[in-house]
Amino acid sequence: MSRDPIRKVVIVGGGTAGWMAAAVLSEFFKGMLTVELIESDDIGTVGVGEATIPQIRLFTGLLGIDEAEMLSATRGTFKLGIQFSDWGRLDDTYMHAFGAIGRKLGSLDFHHYWLKARAVGQASSLWKYSLNETAAVANRFSHLDNVPDMHLGGLVYAYHFDAALFAKYLRGYSERRGVRRREGKVVDVAIGKENGFIEAVTLEGGKRVGGDLFIDCTGFRGLLIEDALETGYEDWSLWLPCDRAVAVPTAHSGPMRPYTTARALDCGWQWRIPLQHRVGNGHVYASQYMSDDEAVSVLLDNVQGETLDEPRLLKFKTGRRKKFWNRNCVALGLASGFMEPLESTSIHLIQTGISRLLEYFPRKGFEQVDIDEYNRRCTWEFERIRDFLILHYHANQRDDSQFWIDRRELPVPTELHRRTDLFLANGRIHREFDELFTEAAWLQVMVGQGILPAGWHPLADRIDEGQMGRFLTSIQTIIAATVDKLPGHEDYVKKYCAAPD
Ligand SMILES: Cc1cc2nc3c(=O)[nH]c(=O)nc-3n(C[C@H](O)[C@H](O)[C@H](O)COP(=O)(O)OP(=O)(O)OC[C@H]3O[C@@H](n4cnc5c(N)ncnc54)[C@H](O)[C@@H]3O)c2cc1C
Repeated sequence: MSRDPIRKVVIVGGGTAGWMAAAVLSEFFKGMLTVELIESDDIGTVGVGEATIPQIRLFTGLLGIDEAEMLSATRGTFKLGIQFSDWGRLDDTYMHAFGAIGRKLGSLDFHHYWLKARAVGQASSLWKYSLNETAAVANRFSHLDNVPDMHLGGLVYAYHFDAALFAKYLRGYSERRGVRRREGKVVDVAIGKENGFIEAVTLEGGKRVGGDLFIDCTGFRGLLIEDALETGYEDWSLWLPCDRAVAVPTAHSGPMRPYTTARALDCGWQWRIPLQHRVGNGHVYASQYMSDDEAVSVLLDNVQGETLDEPRLLKFKTGRRKKFWNRNCVALGLASGFMEPLESTSIHLIQTGISRLLEYFPRKGFEQVDIDEYNRRCTWEFERIRDFLILHYHANQRDDSQFWIDRRELPVPTELHRRTDLFLANGRIHREFDELFTEAAWLQVMVGQGILPAGWHPLADRIDEGQMGRFLTSIQTIIAATVDKLPGHEDYVKKYCAAPD
């Protein structure tokens, strides 16, 4: 087994995934290896992927990226959460707001006190105790690390940005650190006879590019991981049957909101993502329930503001590669698998794929035990996100369309069943290991979708009703007063990170 270091990494694909990988490798392995990225302007990128989650800031922070500069270059805005309308029932709205709900009292999570207060008619809506949600619906934003005097965390935020401009920004970053970009279309992949490893890719015109480690960022097709290595795909469309999206940008018509909107429709849902220069919109739907033409007209009927382009159709299959890392090829981004953008998780999965690759970075000998561990951890992460998405669909009380009735009646994965049962009994929620979604995230989606526990933790009975009422009211009052002092989101963006005209 060779202990020689990896000398050359070849990234095929220059969408968000390819350039994120190039940026990290060029920064962390400066002077230690060569990174070459091949992309084809003729093929282009998927061109969507505009909403992120707060972990993106770990990525940009790690690379030392200046936030205001990046947001200006990508026409970015701030995001405090995702507002879900018509999911549990028609006319219901709730938010998955980032950050905490209320605060712990003693060792006990806030929501146990809230559940008890609710049972005795003392509690307001759960979201009145969320700083993020209160600021979001008031269209306000500022950098705010904490709320003094109440031991409350501050605003936890992510970004909305133009995906193509984000890839362009990272390209500049990577090229300044020595990444070589090669324009061209890969038409052949050479596999070694002895070990089945990828030896080289060949471009149209015959140029052959060899390397030690190949990163497949070629999008849904998975040119290396699937076409060449035949890794296989685990299909999750039984649980998540949406397999298409139509996307269209519109001009702004109304306030620049600091949150993503996800509105449930008859056979899927519609996203709305406000950027500085336009709004991204899309309709995600299941083709077994609705035709493409109908989906386009539903989208156009529901968007606000003038459309700026023709609607674009995207097809996908929800699921994951059976192996994210196969031999000397690691798949990132759409090449590794896909789950619909309901919780804006795809860019995050690229990020964790890259950080895991750093953790298990191989030598030329490629230890199988490292590869297996990488695959095990990616699988676990993908499955927990999958379950969280299924929860949005399954826990609904809608009877107005067959799509929603079918989602409710379909059995869910065992692990999700266990979680919802545990919550239903006494409001218990546990975040396991390094899973993405926090207790506050599960709480909001469960309550928002209409899952309300019968009980609460006995420790919540430690304080009497008077103390409990004062505790809840004080949090609500401080949050409302804090939000009142925040500037409007649009004004803040203009001052902090306005895009050039
Ligand atoms: C409808 C929809 C909405 C989404 N919304 C979000 C969201 O809000 N938030 C989020 O986090 N994610 C979202 N995503 C996912 C997000 O778009 C992707 O994770 C992200 O853009 C990464 O894409 P990629 O780089 O893997 O692939 P792509 O952008 O498709 O890039 C593929 C690259 O491979 C190159 N390539 C392909 N074949 C060849 C070849 N033969 N030779 C050379 N080069 C080749 C292409 O030129 C391109 O550069 C969404 C996805 C979809 C489908």
